[in-house]
Amino acid sequence: MQVPFDEYAQAAGVATELVNTAPGVWNGTDMLSDAAALESFVTTHVPTVWAPGLDRMIPTPDDLAATHALRDVLREIIDSGDARTIVDRATVLTRSVGTLTLAIEDDRTRWQANTAPDAALADQLGLLTGVGVLGVTHALGVERFRPCASPDCSGVFIDTSRNGARRYCMPGLCGNRVNVANHRARQRAQ
Ligand SMILES: [Zn+2]
Repeated sequence: MQVPFDEYAQAAGVATELVNTAPGVWNGTDMLSDAAALESFVTTHVPTVWAPGLDRMIPTPDDLAATHALRDVLREIIDSGDARTIVDRATVLTRSVGTLTLAIEDDRTRWQANTAPDAALADQLGLLTGVGVLGVTHALGVERFRPCASPDCSGVFIDTSRNGARRYCMPGLCGNRVNVANHRARQRAQ
């Protein structure tokens, strides 16, 4: 895994997606229930350019258990709202870093963290999400770690929008749910 620091927003987006696969967000249903679901999550959310070959990696039950543990830590980080806690815990997630380097692209360079060559899948995801959490804390602030505004959703998210006005963990789903509820309430009131 190679994670460019200036793409922390995209990395934080992967953290949000991972946290919201938890059974607590889906009325007890784990959206990351087996190794196949984990493989699909990685293929869908991790940019191939950050992890060449990772989409061909077959996750093991150990990878799944370790990713569930990572998910729990990320949830605690987002729930905490405290800069010291967020930084300390996200720093632990980056323990699989092997080298710090510059990616050279055409005529420019940018900071990049690489995992150690033998890093397990969950540790690679830990570096990715850790860079996302630290990058957002540094550039945007801890108020960007928030619960979903939908009253019947227990999801959380890291807001990387330009104006910082994101309200829902899954905008297409939770936002629509609230709109439908408001619409029905208006209809009842008439
Ligand atoms: Zn939500």
